[in-house]
This record gives sequence, C-alpha cells and structure tokens, in this order.
Amino acid sequence: MITEQDCLALDAADPLAACRSEFALPENVVYLDGNSLGARPKAALERARQVIAAEWGDDLIRSWNTAGWYDLPGRLGALLAPLLGAEADEVVVTDSTSVNLFKALAAALRMQAADPVRAGRRVIITERDNFPSDIYMAEGLLGWLDRGYELRLLDSWSDLPAALAGAAGQQVAAVMLTHVNYRTGRMFDMAATTARIHAAGALAIWDLAHSAGAVDVALNAANADFAVGCTYKYLNGGPGAPAFIWVPRRHHAQFSQPLTGWWTHREPFAMQPGYAPAPGIRRALCGTQPVVSLALVECGLAIFQRVSMAALRRKSLALSDLFLSLLEQHCAAHPLELITPRAHADRGSQVSVTHPHGYAVMQALIARGVIGDYREPRVMRFGFTPLYTGYQDVWRAVMILKDILDRSDYQVDARRSAVT
Ligand SMILES: *Cc1c(COP(=O)(O)O)cnc(C)c1O
Repeated sequence: MITEQDCLALDAADPLAACRSEFALPENVVYLDGNSLGARPKAALERARQVIAAEWGDDLIRSWNTAGWYDLPGRLGALLAPLLGAEADEVVVTDSTSVNLFKALAAALRMQAADPVRAGRRVIITERDNFPSDIYMAEGLLGWLDRGYELRLLDSWSDLPAALAGAAGQQVAAVMLTHVNYRTGRMFDMAATTARIHAAGALAIWDLAHSAGAVDVALNAANADFAVGCTYKYLNGGPGAPAFIWVPRRHHAQFSQPLTGWWTHREPFAMQPGYAPAPGIRRALCGTQPVVSLALVECGLAIFQRVSMAALRRKSLALSDLFLSLLEQHCAAHPLELITPRAHADRGSQVSVTHPHGYAVMQALIARGVIGDYREPRVMRFGFTPLYTGYQDVWRAVMILKDILDRSDYQVDARRSAVT
C-alpha cells in the first residue's frame, strides 16, 4: 500500500521540486492538463509588461532591431533545439502547428517529386487516430494540389510495417506521424520507425505536440526528415503561443514550402519583386510574427535550460506510475479502463483512462480542483508535468477521483462546453 506519507517523502526527495515555484498556479488546484495548456511561468507576466510597455510602448518600431524582435523565431528555436536533439540553426518558433505541418508536408512532397526515382510516389500515410487537425491539413493540401495524391489512414499504429512493405510501400512518398498520440499517450520508437520509413524510400514527418518538453526527443539521432510541434503544451509558452518547425541541415537546400512570405526571403528589406529563399531555416517562416505571444515562449524555455530532460522524464514516469498504482489501489472497483501502454518506452507523459461517463466524471473532477480534460470517446486524459506537479498532487487527484466514483457524484447529463 502506498500512503500519503510515501508521497510526501517522494516530494521531499524530489530534485525538481524547486521548479514549481517558477510557476503561478492557483491554490487548491491539481493541474493535470499541462499536456493541453501548460501553466504560466511567473516570469511571463513581467515579460509581457516589458514587451508591451517598454519595447512596444516606448521604443516603438525600433524594437525590431533594438529588442531583437526580428531574430526571435530563430533565437527561440536555438533555445528549444537541445530539447529536440536538434542543432540551434535547425529550428524556428513560428506560426501554428497546423500551418507548420502544412509546410513540412508540402516540402516533403516537393523533395520526393524532385527525385528522379521517387517522383511518381503518390501515397501519404498517417494514423486514423492522429490528431484531427493533422489529418485535415493533409487532406486540404493534397486535395488542393489535385495531383492524384492519396492519404492512407492506418487503423492501427501497428499496421505501419505492412503498409510500407512490398510494392505498396514503393508508392509511399511520406509518412506523417504524431510521436505521442494525443488520445492514448502511446509513443512511437522514433528511430526504429524512421528507419523503417526510410527503408521504403519515404520521408518521415513527426509531430512533437505531446513530446517537446515531455520526453527525450533525438531528431538528428533518429535521422528524421521534418518535425513540428506546439509550445503552449508542455513547453508552457502561453495560450495559442507560436509553434515550431524543425528542418535538418541536410534538407535546408532542398526545403521548399509554398507559404513564401517575405520573412522567408533572402533579403526581406531589399523589397525586390523576385522571390529568392533565405539559405537556412528562415525559409520555414512566412510573415510577420506575433511578437507579444512569441516573446512569452522564452519564459517557458528558460526554465528548461536549467533542468535535464533525463531528470524530467524520470520524474514524469514516476508520477504516472504512482498514478497508475494508486488507481489500482483505490479505484479498482470502478469501470475505468487504461488505454495508455504501461511500458515506459511506449508512452509519453500522459495517462488516459476511459469511463462510461468520462465527460461527466471529468467535469466533477474539475469542479473539485483536479483539472484534466476529456477527449472522445469516453477518454479522461491526465497529463503529468514534472516541472510543477508533485507526488502529493497525484495522491490528492486519485483520492478525489475515488470519492467522486464511490459516491457517483457526477452529472451524467452535464452540458458540453465548446472546449472539452
Ligand atoms: C495540440 C496538437 C495540435 C494543435 O495544432 P494547432 O495548430 O496549434 O491548433 C496539432 N497536432 C497535434 C498532434 C496536437 O496534439
């Protein structure tokens, strides 16, 4: 039996415990939704004040140069790069994940089309259970191109080897996968999967929305081709903060994407009519960036500079293992079903369990200060963010869940909010 005392002892021995004081969190809330919207770094408020009052208010347009606004996408990319196993000049923070995925997929198709051997490939593979926006963006791009491209949806992640085998595999131009599934928390082996995709002659595009800042990512070691992801989830960049895109150096020269705004131009201020792409990662941008929001991303990334991803991953797994043990200990009588793989190598930093009244139970949890979220069908998601979640928080969350379930203290016909 694990006791609350055990959890307190784990907190006392936690080398990351001090990080919590860097975040503004309300009293009496156990926040298990950092996988969807990270908590606010305390420094973000002062940074916002500085950007708005001093940089914008006092220095006005001069701040593009004097406050480094112009270089922010690349400077933040360089701060983020080590968390992704990437080089500093391979990442920019810009636009949304959906838009960046569009750029990456377009660039991948372009590279394949330019290859004399692979030019005829017309199949793009992803999972039916991928995050819908990724699928919608691919559908949008492929339909708009109108060149006979086909999006093939795998019913299961485990169908990938068969889909890449034999003659069918020779038709595949690109495989677009989310590293950690948003619903189940299942994680792909990035290196092995990328190698398999490459063996079939296809390019590997990874969505790291639920990986960046949550698990060790080693893009270059895996020899991946492109990656995108969010900064507002585990990286704590703020609601709707710009996303990132990674293009390895080996692809910079061939990287061509259709959103060729002036920020991707070799000389944006030459104001010449002819387009010429910037030589490096800047060609992955598009136009003028949302500076206020972009600037706040640095506050989240600054905290990550002081901790190791290995230590974060260790604590993330310890927190989620504790959650699973406590669920077994206290909630075994209830119809909860774990849909996240148990093996550490197969999961990210969230635990998903289904309950026949998942939405109602989650609403009851939120009403009592345990904030997770809900995804169709019946899935309650609990995200574990080691920077600001402690072991006693996990204890509290499970005790409140147990109480709600034991007393059936939830409203089955609760009205759905717009955002679940
Ligand atoms: C959260 C998430 C997104 C979000 O995309 P936006 O463009 O920021 O809305 C995209 N893909 C995946 C896999 C996600 O989990």
